[in-house]
Amino acid sequence: SKVAGKGEVEEYVDTMGRSRLERLELVDDLRRALDRAELDIAYQPIVAVDTGRIVGVEALARWRRGGVAVPPDLFIPTAEDAGLIVELGEQVLATATTDARALRAAVDGPFLLAVNISARQLREPTFVDSVRRAVSAMRGITLVLEVTERQGIDLDPRVLATMEAICAAGAEIAIDDFGVGFSSISYLHDLPVQHIKADATLAQDIDTDERALALLRSVIAMGRTLGFGVVVEGIERESQLAALAADGDDLLAQGFLLHRPMPVSELLVVLATDRLA
Ligand code: C2E
Ligand code: CA
Ligand code: CA
Ligand code: CA
Repeated sequence: SKVAGKGEVEEYVDTMGRSRLERLELVDDLRRALDRAELDIAYQPIVAVDTGRIVGVEALARWRRGGVAVPPDLFIPTAEDAGLIVELGEQVLATATTDARALRAAVDGPFLLAVNISARQLREPTFVDSVRRAVSAMRGITLVLEVTERQGIDLDPRVLATMEAICAAGAEIAIDDFGVGFSSISYLHDLPVQHIKADATLAQDIDTDERALALLRSVIAMGRTLGFGVVVEGIERESQLAALAADGDDLLAQGFLLHRPMPVSELLVVLATDRLA
């Protein structure tokens, strides 16, 4: 939107009320943070509903700008718009790969390490090489790449070929934010995908609204029928977790009730405790 500034000057303001100048400064600072490799990762555990055990983690990018945490919902779209998302994604993957070494020592049995990627990364000719390197360095831990379906999955043959190559390299793919996207679900069985992550909005009211629960359960059933692993996101209350108990077998969940995102140092402590439990 466009608002009148002082005198003749007009200032552009985005939907969050930020001025053009503020946005430019944000992009500048983000570019500098990437140049200096200053982004961090917070890891949020993913838990098996039936046993309560941690079976994996999701890597979430964190950026402290002059001591203040910038929300990913601000800096990720900024990075997308400014052409910085490919570099950001590469750095997150590299850091996660390094952290995977410590994680491998802390877990026994299969373990998933999920990294969010932008659709733009699937169009990068060098992306498959990065994935191959990450997979071989992570040995023993399964790399899962989360692709959001919010804007619809691009079914360009080149993107499909990249997804196939990623899977051939030994990584897996998850459809993120499943159930709130624009795309139809009919393409799902054609994609090389192993997991779906039911969006948090689908779990929001499952403890108070029978229809909400019925909807989520049908998404879970559909996912299972098609052979996907299913993760339910946004579990914040015991009553939501209890509502999922009947579907517990093989179902995975994530949310603040279970574990909040945390630095890798803290994750290692939590994993050690989980292993003793
Ligand atoms: P997402 O991939 O759907 O990640 C889950 C988000 O939900 C995270 O927000 C997480 O902190 C939050 N969350 C987890 N449990 C709960 C809960 O019980 N209740 C609520 N209200 N929220 C919960 P976060 O870390 O702020 O990230 C926001 C989004 O930014 C992510 O959503 C993802 O789309 C994007 N993002 C984060 N890191 C990266 C990255 O490295 N690359 C890309 N391309 N996108 C990223
Ligand atoms: Ca995600
Ligand atoms: Ca999600
Ligand atoms: Ca999200």
